[in-house]
Amino acid sequence: MTAIATLGSHCALQVLKGAKDEGFKTILVCEKKREKLYKRFRFIDELIMVDSFVEILDQKCQQTLEQNDAIIIPHGTLIAQMSSEQIESIKTPIFGNKWILRWESDREMKEKLMREAKLPMPRKVKNPNEINNLVIVKRQGAAGGKGYFIASNKEEYNKKRNGLISQGIISKDETLYIQEYAAGVLAYLQFFYSPLLEELEFFGADQRHESDIEGLARIPAEQQLKSNKVSSFNVIGNSPLVLRESLLEEVYTMGENFVDATKRLVAPGMNGPFCIEGVYDENARFTSFEFSARIVAGTNIYMDGSPYYSLLYNEPMSMGKRIAREVKNANESNQLDKIIT
Ligand code: ATP
Repeated sequence: MTAIATLGSHCALQVLKGAKDEGFKTILVCEKKREKLYKRFRFIDELIMVDSFVEILDQKCQQTLEQNDAIIIPHGTLIAQMSSEQIESIKTPIFGNKWILRWESDREMKEKLMREAKLPMPRKVKNPNEINNLVIVKRQGAAGGKGYFIASNKEEYNKKRNGLISQGIISKDETLYIQEYAAGVLAYLQFFYSPLLEELEFFGADQRHESDIEGLARIPAEQQLKSNKVSSFNVIGNSPLVLRESLLEEVYTMGENFVDATKRLVAPGMNGPFCIEGVYDENARFTSFEFSARIVAGTNIYMDGSPYYSLLYNEPMSMGKRIAREVKNANESNQLDKIIT
């Protein structure tokens, strides 16, 4: 019987709980510092202890995974802590499309895929001299918003960038990505595409709570103006969001366009969970600044099933369980090659 494995962070709990509920053996690659935490959960059958997650590349770790016939469920921590080359060199089968993870990590490739999917995006600002509107400045890869900042002109950009360099948050030679700031209601749209059913499912939406940018709204403008601190977008947690029903048609269209675009650019396409992230403006028009080509931590809010999945499934269905169900269905119908890379 196949085992389901993942790294101990991000959304590991719901992934392994879902796997256990679907009858799989569950394996957690666990950093020693988190052993105590993860041992609290009885649905985790085996811990592979490591000092750091890159040890997943070591022969010993790969052997254990192979002996268990394991499939790895990738999540944000894998992308944040390993290079695309390292991820692509993992011998254990990875759920979904491991080749697309490179497109998520590289800002230029990301933009290309989003354009191909016809997602409306904020304007990219090529260099700091061209900043003439409010912009957000980002780091490469999935930095989770840490070290990001807002600026409205070149001087402010330089001041904040230098401040972050001197604090050691970003490095001097790091290429930063500048994008027009999109104002409105944040919405992170979570999907699952099943290559077995050839069907797109909308799972749910969430909002991220980011520190300390959100804290700013809690102090009066007078104090905000006096503060010299560079606000960051470090994700602290997520909360649920239910969309106006009239927006759903467009949500499905965006998801389907994205899946079609990935089939053209990154074979075998976007299989499994993904997320389109953006903002609704005052006319309910969506602008997308980002996608995640794997399960997002925002799905953790629906461990017992989301509002939209309660319409599709007559049982509690988390994203972790949906992934495990897909593996189970593929296994039973001899189609594992369709859902792993
Ligand atoms: P992750 O991989 O965790 O999704 P990331 O490092 O790729 O994060 P983004 O999701 O692009 O970063 O941005 C982090 C946060 O910054 C967003 O959640 C959002 O609050 C804010 N943000 C990003 N781009 C924009 C934009 N163009 N306009 C307004 N806010 C933005």
